[in-house]
Amino acid sequence: MVFIFSIIVAFVLGTIIGSFLNVVILRWNTGASIAVDRSRCFSCGRTLRWYELIPVVSFLVQGGRCRSCGSRLSWQYPLVEMGTGVLFALVVWLFPPLSSLGALADALYFAIVSVLMVIVVYDLRHKIIPDIFSYFFAFLAMVLIMLHASVGIFDWWTLAAGPLLALPLFLLWLVSGGRWMGLGDAKLTLGIGWMLGLNAGGAALVMAFWIGAIVGIALIIVHRMRLKSEVPFAPFLIAGTLIVFFTGLTFTSLALFL
Ligand SMILES: [Zn+2]
Repeated sequence: MVFIFSIIVAFVLGTIIGSFLNVVILRWNTGASIAVDRSRCFSCGRTLRWYELIPVVSFLVQGGRCRSCGSRLSWQYPLVEMGTGVLFALVVWLFPPLSSLGALADALYFAIVSVLMVIVVYDLRHKIIPDIFSYFFAFLAMVLIMLHASVGIFDWWTLAAGPLLALPLFLLWLVSGGRWMGLGDAKLTLGIGWMLGLNAGGAALVMAFWIGAIVGIALIIVHRMRLKSEVPFAPFLIAGTLIVFFTGLTFTSLALFL
């Protein structure tokens, strides 16, 4: 009973954090303040009231439109809020905070999935990953390594996994002159390696290329033509990372499966 309650609390917390992540995604690099300004409608500029800022619920109640001017609100709002809520709930469900150390780990996981959510949506919108997001993710993954080390779990391979897994993506970027792979994807993979270690991180990369291939083929069929615009790769990298993180899949288990 307490466990189910804590999963629900995590979900609600996730939707609230998600609405903050929307603000970060929309205002990053626009010169607008992230913390001070109240949220406004992008069309009519009216400041939103508190009851228009309830994650997911407000969007559904208002039918996806601004209450003042009736202009359509982006689906990004409820999707990021719901998505972050689901990820937070999964963290608490799959890694129950049974000790203070477990609670600390879950708080760190909340921060990590939040940064990854921002990177996915930002890359989809702008086809670029701001360096600071990737470096912040790599920093959080490093904190996770230190948290594990504090209870005697440490492996040099985990430390090496960041650069080792980023290397193939870096080479793809180098060889193709940035056409097959962005340098931002290699920087992102640094954090993926440190977060998951070599074995699980390797599985995340394989998953990313599989999901990328499936989505790429689907896009070609749907549009009945060659893909001209470059497809952002970070969403696939992060999808692979989260699948591996939540399922405990490793490169070894993936190889056995094949
Ligand atoms: Zn409006």
